[in-house]
Amino acid sequence: MAQGGTSDAREGEGPGFWLWDLRVDTVLDGRTPVCRHVEGEHVRVEGEALLFPAGARVSMYALAALLPLLPAKRRDTDPHDWMSTDAEVACPDPHCGGRFRIVREGRRWFSHAATTGLPDARGTPYWQEGQP
Ligand SMILES: [Zn+2]
Repeated sequence: MAQGGTSDAREGEGPGFWLWDLRVDTVLDGRTPVCRHVEGEHVRVEGEALLFPAGARVSMYALAALLPLLPAKRRDTDPHDWMSTDAEVACPDPHCGGRFRIVREGRRWFSHAATTGLPDARGTPYWQEGQP
């Protein structure tokens, strides 16, 4: 098992691990934001990708505040870890009022070989699996 382990194996795919897909919702709760934050707008995180609904606009300042937290939020964390219990991140403008709620949705399994860059362990990248 890998260090820190929630390692798992699947037949024919070798060892791997689970990551959460995320949805990041814009939350205002009656506050009027300075930046363009619209209640209910969201961004999804699937694999390593950020998915923006058609027409969505996201403040680059807010995105810059969120990005460092997303990889940690995708992983299982101790139930007492603040990363497990705290879900809202404030816009970095202290006068703004915009907040972003990070919600764990479904879990997705990744094989180690499909996600590593180590030459001796490397397989087909996960994003190319199932492609002709
Ligand atoms: Zn803001």
